[in-house]
Amino acid sequence: MTRPSPHIDRDRLAAARAWAEARYHACDVCAERCLVDRHAGELGLCGLPADARVYKEYLHLGEEARLVPSHTIYLSGCNFRCAFCSDDPQVRRPLEHGVTVPPAALAKRIAQRRAEGARNVNFVGGLPDVNVLYILKVLEHCPPDTPVVWNTNLWTTPEAIAHLEGVVWTWLVDFKFGNDRCARKLAGARDYLATLTDLLPRAAAAGEVLVRHLLMPGHLECCTRPVLDWLATHLPEVPLNVMTGYHPYRMARGRGPMSRGIPAAERATALAGLGPERFADLLFDGTEYPLIVSGSAS
Ligand code: SF4
Repeated sequence: MTRPSPHIDRDRLAAARAWAEARYHACDVCAERCLVDRHAGELGLCGLPADARVYKEYLHLGEEARLVPSHTIYLSGCNFRCAFCSDDPQVRRPLEHGVTVPPAALAKRIAQRRAEGARNVNFVGGLPDVNVLYILKVLEHCPPDTPVVWNTNLWTTPEAIAHLEGVVWTWLVDFKFGNDRCARKLAGARDYLATLTDLLPRAAAAGEVLVRHLLMPGHLECCTRPVLDWLATHLPEVPLNVMTGYHPYRMARGRGPMSRGIPAAERATALAGLGPERFADLLFDGTEYPLIVSGSAS
């Protein structure tokens, strides 16, 4: 079925904002379901009250080729604690980073970036899901033809996905772990696989999905293979971007395979075992898979 052009459905946006506004009183807008009153300043795992903080925004040229230039807006706070997080301070201490920006002012910047060539507005961080109310308030000031990219770990809920249908155009989903043990150890997430494999098809039904999977050193068999096998079986039509740019960040201080980049031999093994024929739309580091592989991985 051909989908219409990117747009924001005003009625659905109003309903989503009302939903988020109400849920923040006993917050359950993400999979953590902390049940704290964010309007009263209580903090759950994400460490955020009702307000959001913007710590960076720019025209990003390093996202998937089909998404750039992408106006990427970084909001502090997250519901994961990834040991290799690139923005660890903004995740662990969200109120110490960035500034509060009135929704109308951020919408004005979005309009400016679109005039500069942005193909979309891309909410990340941190994480958009824990900042959903603020983002919806911003979008109320944006024109309906604004293509919204939701750059997420998908640690969310079926209710949140249902409310964002007609508002979010592209779900840019990190499918990081292939088993619960690695998810618990590396990100603090429980019941990861059951949650992700329930939510991914829901996101795919609610909008356009592009899945990212980052190769992690030493996690080829326990994470990469199960993730790719599940996607090939259940969502083979969904675009998949396999990324090799792992950087250890905080983990560089430790030992073990994840304290350094991915070894060339492991990268080559991973690429050889991708089974590209299983996917309708496979990307490699953001670019069409066959073009890259013919030049560098064969
Ligand atoms: S958004 Fe924050 S407070 Fe709400 S459930 Fe998620 S982690 Fe908890």
